[in-house]
Amino acid sequence: MSQTRLSALEQTDAFIRRHIGPDAAEQRAMLDTLGVESLDALIAQTVPQSILRQDLLALGAPRSEAEVLSYLKEVASKNQIFTSCIGMGYHGTLTPTVILRNVLENPGWYTAYTPYQPEIAQGRLEALLNFQQLSIDLTGMELASASLLDEATAAAEAMALAKRVAKSKSNLFFIDQDCHPQTISVVRNRAEAFGFEVVIDVVGNLDQYQVFGALFQYPTTWGEIRDLKPLIDQVHAQNALACVAADLLSLVLLTPPGELGADVVFGSAQRFGVPMGYGGPHAAFFATRDAYKRAMPGRIIGVSVDTRGNRALRMALQTREQHIRREKANSNICTAQVLLANIASFYAVYHGPEGLKIIAQRVQRLTAILAAGLEACGIQRSNSHFFDTLTLKVPGQAAAIVARAQAARVNLRLIDADTLGVSLDETSTRTTVQTLLACFAGDQHGQDLEALDAQVAAAGLGIPADLQRQSAFLTHPVFNSYHSETEMLRYIKSLENKDLALNQAMIPLGSCTMKLNATTEMIPITWPEFGQLHPFVPREQAEGYKQMIDELEAMLREITGFDAICMQPNSGAQGEYAGLLAIRKYHESRDEGHRNVCLIPTSAHGTNPASAMMASMRVVLVACDEQGNVDVEDLRQKAADNAENLSCLMITYPSTHGVYEEGIREICDIIHQHGGQVYMDGANLNAQVALSRPADIGADVSHMNLHKTFCIPHGGGGPGMGPIGVKAHLAPFVANHPVVPLEGPNAENDAVSAAPWGSASILPISWTYIALMGAQGLRQATEVAILNANYLAKQLGEAYPVLYSGRNGRVAHECIIDIRPLKAASGISEEDVAKRLMDFGFHAPTMSFPVAGTLMIEPTESESKAELDRFIDAMLTIRAEISRVEKGDWSAEDNPLHNAPHTLADITGDWQRGYSRQEAVFPQPWVAANKFWPSVNRIDNVYGDRNLFCACPPIEAYEG
Ligand SMILES: *Cc1c(COP(=O)(O)O)cnc(C)c1O
Repeated sequence: MSQTRLSALEQTDAFIRRHIGPDAAEQRAMLDTLGVESLDALIAQTVPQSILRQDLLALGAPRSEAEVLSYLKEVASKNQIFTSCIGMGYHGTLTPTVILRNVLENPGWYTAYTPYQPEIAQGRLEALLNFQQLSIDLTGMELASASLLDEATAAAEAMALAKRVAKSKSNLFFIDQDCHPQTISVVRNRAEAFGFEVVIDVVGNLDQYQVFGALFQYPTTWGEIRDLKPLIDQVHAQNALACVAADLLSLVLLTPPGELGADVVFGSAQRFGVPMGYGGPHAAFFATRDAYKRAMPGRIIGVSVDTRGNRALRMALQTREQHIRREKANSNICTAQVLLANIASFYAVYHGPEGLKIIAQRVQRLTAILAAGLEACGIQRSNSHFFDTLTLKVPGQAAAIVARAQAARVNLRLIDADTLGVSLDETSTRTTVQTLLACFAGDQHGQDLEALDAQVAAAGLGIPADLQRQSAFLTHPVFNSYHSETEMLRYIKSLENKDLALNQAMIPLGSCTMKLNATTEMIPITWPEFGQLHPFVPREQAEGYKQMIDELEAMLREITGFDAICMQPNSGAQGEYAGLLAIRKYHESRDEGHRNVCLIPTSAHGTNPASAMMASMRVVLVACDEQGNVDVEDLRQKAADNAENLSCLMITYPSTHGVYEEGIREICDIIHQHGGQVYMDGANLNAQVALSRPADIGADVSHMNLHKTFCIPHGGGGPGMGPIGVKAHLAPFVANHPVVPLEGPNAENDAVSAAPWGSASILPISWTYIALMGAQGLRQATEVAILNANYLAKQLGEAYPVLYSGRNGRVAHECIIDIRPLKAASGISEEDVAKRLMDFGFHAPTMSFPVAGTLMIEPTESESKAELDRFIDAMLTIRAEISRVEKGDWSAEDNPLHNAPHTLADITGDWQRGYSRQEAVFPQPWVAANKFWPSVNRIDNVYGDRNLFCACPPIEAYEG
């Protein structure tokens, strides 16, 4: 008997079968249902011939999980982990291991989506409410939001808020020059895009300007602690807003800016347990006055009630934001940093106010000891007060001291030849201080830490007496109950149990691409070699990062066809903004800076018009025809009408209607003929990878949502990454960085994110995915994504009209089903269907985007036929229920759709309904086998907005 050859047993392509849900037999069965002989034939029917590639991408063969991890480990070990005392907004921190394992490394937390379906998201909504409370308490403000992308972009959002609400009619924004350089760069960039003027000056000159707002930092980038009150008063005297970037840990000990009169207080929550990760991801906090709530950027979690009158959480005031207000939105924020905000809030829950005080006091005390020791050695300090950062005068010695420090594996902040900065953090110890003293003053410095400590304790060195925090914080029970690991573990688990994530069921959210986030892809992100690097370390310490990012850029260039990649934007929407800025700068470079019209099809995602507004573009809408395609004649007309001033078109491909427009090349040509550029929204790249390339089709620039197509998990609403690919002519105009200059973009370009490569530490996820799949795996993935969507469209099409389809009646990787006719006949709405799906254990598809009254379903390639069939079964059962309402078997109020979702409280309480308990909670036999119980009943949205409450309930609410 002949045996199998070794080569056939090695299975380097085994991961492809792990990532792709349906196996060969299931694919065959689905193709049969569609009446197509092969996957190739389906693709030929679906993707326009004019864009379909035949060749495999030059990405190499698939590789095994073990091989890829060992290769990446080798790459990662080229990073050198030094103790970074650089400061500048990034600090060493200790992620409590109970949070590391049960949140950061737990798919129950990291694979959830933004809580648009709050009844199955109460866990992360509670964690985010805690984050808001943490932000409110530490800043001393009235209201906080649930995370922005980073400190620098939060500063830019603060400026934009100031412009919206300030009574001052000035167009000038003041930036204190003692802010972090990356913050100044991002704000200056945003101001220029908005058409605001900025001045960067010392605060002493503030009175020379008339401004609509001013930005200060507390403590300053040099570590100084100033009383902001007189400055804030000056700003208020001008009817302007005072915005304060604050260090979250320092606020444990300092008078909060809110008590000094600040209008907006924001900053990074990184040092609350989130690794530096070479720049991110981290959550920014953002707090302001209650009066400005409608002007706030990003998401706010609010308290409301469910149909039983129980407390329930949801996203509040959504009408402020891009998905509803489009070009009138406060910001373009969609994906934010939910997972990281949750980690920071758990860090505060675990340590509690007393634990945080000990941490902050220890950091401050070690800094004071270091300050006293250096002073005793004759080294002068330029900041008289400090929390954790010292700026030291070392005339002519800076380079030599930095070299000594590096030999001791410590990074200092090199300010200039005569000045150094040093910041301590939660990870600092006596040894750190000893090492630093030796670096500055030589091994024979002769300082005794105990003696210094006694001296410091007596003198109270560091924080000015009148800026010592007096007010209590984190007094709510949640911050005072879970300090043992057992209690904490159970608290985390109790919240996780309330949330439906990908480890429970498919999440068929159209446009969001909720595919597998494979464990192997996730493993590297918590390696210390990736986690513990400060973003501003010397480049030679980050060789591993450089190699991984270079390789990922090369992969993405091959996949998209672009010439260059800019890795900075932290979300798709930030990519849009970054891309539009590049287009703007390109036109300016050709003396065509007047080009400012941005054409956007009506089907576009809300971030498109919101981003266009941020780049001061004039949005001109282009109609769509009855098939959901861009109306090419309307486009031609509008392009011609605006030819003089045409800046660009923003177009999503395949379209948000879920079809491959046949006319895409022509559309791009029309724009180019009129001197415009094509911005391709790459959110739907999962339907293009390996089949077509944005740059080949005619795009000049496009973002890639690495958290959709390239497997970064959605984290419950972030993190994400939205790098942009550009053609060569735009490459000089993408973002650069003021601290870590990048090769390629023009040196004078400002940044769009705080960190040079955005959220660098999650890039290994996308790298790993592409490496595992190889060229052939990626092609199969796209093909199966299309197969799964068409199978669903076919199986659901009779019960629910599929709104749009392309050639041969095929959809792309997602499809829209229309609930409006059913609603007209039965009164049952898309929302009822969405909530009823929860009773089956499913997350709803995307509701009412891009068309109101519809559901958009995107199964992705990772869902097996078995799961698709369960979903189909659920949807058909729901359709039958709708018929019973339609026929009058059930009344409009007394039916399982209107009352969905059903909770345990429903079926254990009084039951007087026209349908059984069984029908309510086990509508199909298979549901019982893996029942997911929504923790609350349907939530009242209107009540929540009318009675806006965005903090943890007061202590009295827990009594009795
Ligand atoms: C998701 C999405 C965006 C926004 O991307 P974020 O990463 O969430 O900022 C933009 N356009 C479309 C079509 C999308 O689906």
